[in-house]
Amino acid sequence: MGHKTFSRGIHPSYYKELTSGKRVEAASLPKTVTIPLQQHAGAPCEPLVKKGDIVAEGQKIGDVKAFVSAPVHASISGKVKDIELSQHPGGFRSVSIIIEGDGTVKEWGKAGAPVDLSAISAEALREAVRDAGIVGMGGAAFPTSVKLAPPKGKAIEAVVLNGCECEPYLTADHRIMLEEPEKVIWGLRALMKATGAPKGFIGIEENKPDAIEALKKAIGSASDIQIIILEAKYPQGAEKMLIVAALGRKVPVGKLPLDVGVVVNNVGTAAAIYEALNWGKPLIERIVTISGNGVKEPRNLRVRVGTSFEEVLSQCGGLVEGGEVEVLNGGPMMGIAQPTLAVPVIKGTSGITVIAASVIKSSVYDACIRCASCVSVCPMGLMPYKLGDFGKSFRTADFKDWDGVSCIECGCCSYACPSKRPLLQWIRLGKLKVRQEAQKAAAAK
Ligand code: SF4
Ligand code: SF4
Repeated sequence: MGHKTFSRGIHPSYYKELTSGKRVEAASLPKTVTIPLQQHAGAPCEPLVKKGDIVAEGQKIGDVKAFVSAPVHASISGKVKDIELSQHPGGFRSVSIIIEGDGTVKEWGKAGAPVDLSAISAEALREAVRDAGIVGMGGAAFPTSVKLAPPKGKAIEAVVLNGCECEPYLTADHRIMLEEPEKVIWGLRALMKATGAPKGFIGIEENKPDAIEALKKAIGSASDIQIIILEAKYPQGAEKMLIVAALGRKVPVGKLPLDVGVVVNNVGTAAAIYEALNWGKPLIERIVTISGNGVKEPRNLRVRVGTSFEEVLSQCGGLVEGGEVEVLNGGPMMGIAQPTLAVPVIKGTSGITVIAASVIKSSVYDACIRCASCVSVCPMGLMPYKLGDFGKSFRTADFKDWDGVSCIECGCCSYACPSKRPLLQWIRLGKLKVRQEAQKAAAAK
C-alpha cells in the first residue's frame, strides 16, 4: 500500500543526497552580524538599543507590543555599530541592527534531565516561546506564540510536527530529526501542553527512514505521539497538504488549521523550543543547508542569525568557477533569488541554494497552449493559467473571484508549464495587488 498523501502536486528531482548524509557542523563565529527587525510574519520590531551600545549574546535588541510579532536578539556579543536600512533575503529592504563582535562566545545548554513540563503552566510556556523570539523555522516565520494562543472556544485536538522537508536540496530538518530527536520530541510535548492538545503527530516523508527510526526510538512506548509516514511529493510540507494527508482533515478556504482543531509546527521549531525552555537560549542561530550545483562543498551548518550569505558560502568552498549562478534564500521551488550576497541569514533561512545558470529556467516564455498541466498539479485546485493572466494584467477583481488569494505559492504550476510561463511570479503580483487594495481601503476608513 502506498503512503498517505494529498491530491495533485509534483515529483521534482530532490538532490537531497548532496547533504543528507552530512552532519551539522558549527559555522565560524562571524565578526559582524546584520539583524533585521523584520524576520517574521507580522509587525516589525522597534530597536531596543542604539548605536554604540554594548550588547551580550542572547540579549533582546528589538521588540514591539503587537500580538503578531516576535522579538529579535543579538546573535553575538559586541557593540552596536549602526541601525540602518539593509537588503533583506525576503527581497526588500529592512531596518537592521549591525553588531560588531568582540569575539567572545556564550556557553548555552547544560547536561542533565530536561525541565519537567508538568511543572510549567501553558501560559508560562507561551510567554517563554514569545520571549525567545521563536517563529516557524520551515520558512514562513510565523510567530509561534500566536499559534499557541487559539481564540476562546477553539479546542486544539492535535499538534502536527512538520518533518516533510519536501523542497529539493534542503536537509536541515532531516538532520535535526536524526541528530537531535529527543529535543524534537520534548518540543512537541511542550507544544501539546501549551495548546492543550492530547495528541501529537509527526509527518515525515518516506525518503527519510533513518530519521523515522531515530524519532521512533525517542518516542519509545508513549502512545500519545505517532509518526505518520507520507509519500515523498511536493508540496507535502505545506500546512494544508500535511493536515489532509496526515489526519484526513481539510482546512476550508479562508480558514486556518486551528479551525479544524490542529496546530502545525516545524521540527526545527520544536527543537528551538527545547533550547529556549531548558537553556534559556533565544532563537539566535539555526541549521542551514547550503547546497546546489553552484557551490563547491554543500554542507549543513549551524549559523548565527545575521551572518551574511557571502560568509556562509565561503565556508562551503565558495561558488563554482566559470559561469553565472543564482543564489536563493530557501529551496528552488519557493526560494527567493538574491540580488547580492550581502544579505543575512534570518530565522526563516532553512537553506541557501546555489544553482548554476545553465539549469536556470530562461526568462523567455511562450503562449499558453491551454494544456491544463498547471491545473492538474495545483494542490489547491485552482486555475493557475487564469490567475497568472489576471495577476499580470492587474485584474484584481477577477483574481479575487477565481480565489487567487488561496494560492499557497508552491510553484507547482510554473514547474509543470511546458510554455515556461512564470505563473507563480504573476500570481504573487496578483496577491500583492489584493493586499495593497485592502490596505488602501483600511486606510480610507
Ligand atoms: S496556483 Fe498557487 S497553489 Fe496552485 S500550483 Fe500555482 S503556486 Fe501552487
Ligand atoms: S501549463 Fe502553461 S501552457 Fe498549459 S495551460 Fe497552464 S499556463 Fe497554459
